[in-house]
Amino acid sequence: MTDLSMSASRRASRLIGIMIVVAPVIASADAPLQVQLPVDCEVGNSCFVQNLVDHDPGPGASDFMCGHLTYDGHNGTDFRVPDVPSAESVDVLAAADGKVLRRRDGMADVSVRKIGVDAVTGSNCGNGLVIDHGNAWETQYCHLAKDSLTVRPGESVLAGQTIARIGLSGLTEYPHVHFTVRRNGTVVDPFAFGRGDGECGGGESLWSAAAMEQLAYAPGFVINAGFGAGRLDMDAIEEGALSDFKLKDDTPALTAVVRAGWLAAGDVIEMSLSGPYGTVLAKTRSDPLARSMAQHMLLIGKTRPTRGWPRGRYKSVYKVVRNGALLLEREFQLVY
Ligand SMILES: [Zn+2]
Repeated sequence: MTDLSMSASRRASRLIGIMIVVAPVIASADAPLQVQLPVDCEVGNSCFVQNLVDHDPGPGASDFMCGHLTYDGHNGTDFRVPDVPSAESVDVLAAADGKVLRRRDGMADVSVRKIGVDAVTGSNCGNGLVIDHGNAWETQYCHLAKDSLTVRPGESVLAGQTIARIGLSGLTEYPHVHFTVRRNGTVVDPFAFGRGDGECGGGESLWSAAAMEQLAYAPGFVINAGFGAGRLDMDAIEEGALSDFKLKDDTPALTAVVRAGWLAAGDVIEMSLSGPYGTVLAKTRSDPLARSMAQHMLLIGKTRPTRGWPRGRYKSVYKVVRNGALLLEREFQLVY
């Protein structure tokens, strides 16, 4: 089995430092690789950009906009889907024409929260593929679904061709594809090729025009919004508890849940749950967040009334206020 494991985090940071030095030479020598979206989903709706490439060479983390949508040493772009059931219908696509170099398949789709980080040591990428695009450009796709890889080393692929499905293999707690672009073995941020050190928003985008339409820089987005029964945790949401839920007469508690991506320090979150005739069943307003959070889950709920759940419409409204202005608003409902 070919080892596809990603570089250790500190090493990745150093590689980015080297990239900055060599980039002007590459740009003058030939045109950079153009990449398409590596996932068959609608970014911002059926999938989300969870993490960008870390440009900070030190122990901190900074994305190409000098924002916080990354973590220390992250060397790719993460496209996530809302939960495990939704991953089953999202294909991973070749970002450009090329030839398959390496692959790994056969690793289980399971969160490292369940099996522990040690279980995937040396194979953090999980089921993965590396594609050679010529001119020393390559792309890598990690955490693919077990037995979903459709291409083998030596095979040619076309941009947009299905090569696998989004999965949960390797070092991951949620279904996503980790997409890395490299030139001469050095990590390149497809949002900011040749970006100068600390140059916020600098560098050149490698994304195709069609991909760029879906790739607005998004500090704050709703990943899941829905109802469930009782107290739900991250694993239950990941396993699809919100998609499966049906209110029944004996449901012990009705819970409205929203999981959001990349909320910022100072953000205030408001959430309400109302029942038939607009009766307020639960309501909350958070203190300003003390720090930015890659994902933030909020749930409010109501225990079953003694005479059962009244028939009618149950509605939840979720709002995130940033710097005094409304950043996100999501309303969702169910009819019982
Ligand atoms: Zn990643």
